[in-house]
Formats: sequence, structure tokens, C-alpha cells
Amino acid sequence: LASGWGLGAQRGLAIGIGDDAAVLRFAGLEGCVLTADMLTDGVDFELERIDPRRVGRKALAVNLSDAAAMAARPLAAIVCLALPRAGALELAKELYEGLIPLAEQFGVAIAGGDTNTWDGPLVVSVTVVGQVTERGPLVRSGARAGDAILVTGSFGGSRRGRQFDFEPRVREALALAERWPLAAGIDVSDGLSLDLARVAKASGCGAEVELAKVPVSEDAGAWAAELADGSTALEHALADGEDFELILAAAPEVAAEIVAAQPLACGITRIGSFVAEAGLWQLDAEGRRSPLAARGFEH
Ligand SMILES: [Mg+2]
Repeated sequence: LASGWGLGAQRGLAIGIGDDAAVLRFAGLEGCVLTADMLTDGVDFELERIDPRRVGRKALAVNLSDAAAMAARPLAAIVCLALPRAGALELAKELYEGLIPLAEQFGVAIAGGDTNTWDGPLVVSVTVVGQVTERGPLVRSGARAGDAILVTGSFGGSRRGRQFDFEPRVREALALAERWPLAAGIDVSDGLSLDLARVAKASGCGAEVELAKVPVSEDAGAWAAELADGSTALEHALADGEDFELILAAAPEVAAEIVAAQPLACGITRIGSFVAEAGLWQLDAEGRRSPLAARGFEH
């Protein structure tokens, strides 16, 4: 990467690795968003236990979620498959049967890709290209102390199925960004607390969560009951990850307007504030303040 190639390749890169998607700068365009994800059998899913259609759908959906986190409009996808030799054709068909309806739903063109067979496990890699709107890309580093923390939907227990069947919040992000100035954003892939900590750190501030305000999904309670290990629904909401909801930062008066308007079918909730003091903090129902652990999936 120290070569001239690396330098040349980065010339048009407005935002590189480290945010939800990269942004390329082109003359005459607002900006181009690029994001990629790779799902591997045995790591991200167990092919023996899951319908390949859900894997194909998820491989695209996680990219759409990253585009949403940047408040970008996804336009096209590149799909790369490494298929185990036995039953390769049938498997490829099933993956696309899951992927194509989602692409159509979001108006995303399958722009190309590559398909190979090999002796290894199934690997599905999808790259999405999107367009930044006139508002510009939403980044992780834009939150300021005093901004409200807003979240879409609810959290926890994604392993009961939502980790595959979630709705990427593309329309929600675009609808919000069109009506209101948003300061920062991220999609929750690894855990509400962990991804919130990432926004705070990138923004050079801290975050304070009112625990009673966290929207806990029904799945979080069901998952805690299923595990029966003493964990609570709230703990699952804060740490499970793969919710693919959005965390957004907005000035308090903007957040108040958004919450009052409730413009999204999935709901939008204020769960706290960004604060000057670094780190994550929690406020319990009695208003007592203590450190909140940033928990979730670490890559
Ligand atoms: Mg992301």
C-alpha cells in the first residue's frame, strides 16, 4: 500500500475505511458511496441449518443497511459467489431467489459480479454502490455534546431470525435526512452500546443512555427467556447486535421535532444525549449515573 498505486487509488476517496461506507468524489456528482460485506458458511451462517434464500437476501441487506447509515441512495450491487462444487448451480439459484426480490424492492440494479466453484465453503460477497444526497453523507464523526441520541425500531434477540429477515432502513434514513438536519449516523450491526460508543469516539465526545428509554424488542425478552441464563431483555437490546437499526445524532430541538412527528412506521426514539465527557454512561430509572459497558460483537 506504500506504493504509488495506493496513493493514486486514494485520490478520489472522500471518506475511506472506518465509516459505514466509503465515499468517492467525482466532478459534477454529490458523491458515490461504496460498501462491501462478505458472508462465509461456518462463520456468518450455517448452510446446513438455513434456507440459502435468506443468506442471499442478507448478503445484500447488510450492504443496504450500511448505505442507509450514510443516508445514501443505493443504486447498484456487485455479487460475488464462491460456491462449493456439489450442487453449485442449485445453490446459486436459491441465493439469487432471496437476493433479487430485495434488490427490486429497493430499486437496486445487480450491476455485475463473479461466480466460481471451489472445494471450500460457500462465500457470498456483495458490494453496493450508492449516491449521496444533496444533504451530503451522514458520518459517524458529526455528533456534538448536547445532541440527542435517536434510534429507529427496537433492539435485542436478533438471533431469533431478525438477523436474516430485517428491513434495511434505507427509506427511513432518506426520509429523515430530507426533512431534518442530522449530525451523525451508524447502523447497529455489532451491538447498540458498542456501535453507539463508536459514534461517540469518532465524534470526540461521550454518550449517556437513559436505560428506561431503550426500545427493547419482543425478541429480546423471548431470547432471554430461551437462554434462561439470568440475562435480561435490556442486556440483549444493548449488546446482541445485528439489529440493523440506525443510531442517529441530531440537535435537541431537531430531535424533539422528529420524535413528535413520528414519521417512521418502525418508530424513532430518543434514548439519551451525547455528552462532553468521553465514554459511555447510563442513567437508571432513579437518575443514577454510572459507566455503561460497550458490549457487542468485536471483529
Ligand atoms: Mg455499518
